[in-house]
Amino acid sequence: MNKKTVRDIDLRGKRVLMRADFNVPLKEGVITDDTRIQAALPTIKYILEQGASLILMSHLGRPKGKTPELSLKPVADYLGKLLGQEVKMAPDVVGDEVKAMADALAPGEVLVLENTRFYGEESKNVPEFAEKLASLGNVFVNDAFGTAHRAHASTEGVTHYMPGVAGFLIGKELDFLGKATGDPDRPFVVILGGAKVSDKIAVIENMLGKADKLLIGGGMANTFFKAQGLEMGDSLVEADALEMAKSLMAKGGDKLVLPVDAVAADAFDNAANYKVVTVDAVEPGWRILDIGPKTVSLYKDILKTAKTVVWNGPMGVFEMENFAKGTFAIAEVLAELDAVTIIGGGDSASAVAKAGVADKVSHVSTGGGASLEFLEGKVLPGIAALEDK
Ligand code: ADP
Ligand code: MG
Repeated sequence: MNKKTVRDIDLRGKRVLMRADFNVPLKEGVITDDTRIQAALPTIKYILEQGASLILMSHLGRPKGKTPELSLKPVADYLGKLLGQEVKMAPDVVGDEVKAMADALAPGEVLVLENTRFYGEESKNVPEFAEKLASLGNVFVNDAFGTAHRAHASTEGVTHYMPGVAGFLIGKELDFLGKATGDPDRPFVVILGGAKVSDKIAVIENMLGKADKLLIGGGMANTFFKAQGLEMGDSLVEADALEMAKSLMAKGGDKLVLPVDAVAADAFDNAANYKVVTVDAVEPGWRILDIGPKTVSLYKDILKTAKTVVWNGPMGVFEMENFAKGTFAIAEVLAELDAVTIIGGGDSASAVAKAGVADKVSHVSTGGGASLEFLEGKVLPGIAALEDK
């Protein structure tokens, strides 16, 4: 995509204000998963190596006002250890003291601001607040893809006061998701699953216009089956999405492919009785919790020839071992393909990790909601605001 990245600008001697995604899980002040901090390291190191000073900002959780438990101090300390250098912690997000600390930074030095959501102005994207943030540096780098679909002061507002470019994480997301949704190598196959069709209507509509095949799985398939008049027993069905499902099937024609068999269970429980059934044979009191083996091989045949694959939404209730087989089988298929394979969506990313193939696909998107909006064809405000190449 046509957005400048940190590689396209001269950073020497600059004071860089970088929006990272440091929204990490904390337990009693200890970081329990450092994936997001590790993921930001390449951009951070690059900026420092270029001879810039660096001011980092992020949100953390959902604080109401200044909440000490949601301070970014543990992140600053942790980052200091990873970088092997001092990382200064600001006492606040904005204000005179913070400004003085930012101004005093020498090239190569790092300052972490407090949790941007300590201020309600962040999410409301209040211009005066964005201007105060922007006054801390002279160039903006956005590397927080997970919040790029939100026009907040730290993701969008600041770009009204300073030029903005993408970091490596957003750059990679744009390379993969931008290419797949804009100019994919074909055949281009999209796999959509997850619980509810209503969450993904805009994705289905947009992808029907771009993909060569759209393979449906997960709970959302049930609503399509019900719309065809099939009995779904106690399966998750969205009664108010039946008309929408009908119109999507009419629009999709041959492009939209539904499962041919399913794993049905007599309770929503890993310990339930379960069996493989055709989709027209779901008994009363039973519910579909996974795609069946015939569906896996049908989808495998279609995927074999694909040059680009985008997958969002698990094929079944993968959190339960007995209903994870369809999802894991599709993950294995993707891992073996000679194609660009992209995973979007929070649960899909964790399913692929659980299947042990996260490093065998081309790209696992770091943004759940953001990648979904990308697939819907929406312009993400945090990306639109960055400088064009
Ligand atoms: P993502 O986060 O990747 O976008 P979703 O949030 O849309 O994915 O969907 C994931 C959820 O869908 C999982 O929690 C999974 O258990 C659920 N799911 C998948 N198939 C079914 C099904 N047949 N019945 C009920 N829930 C399902
Ligand atoms: Mg989800």
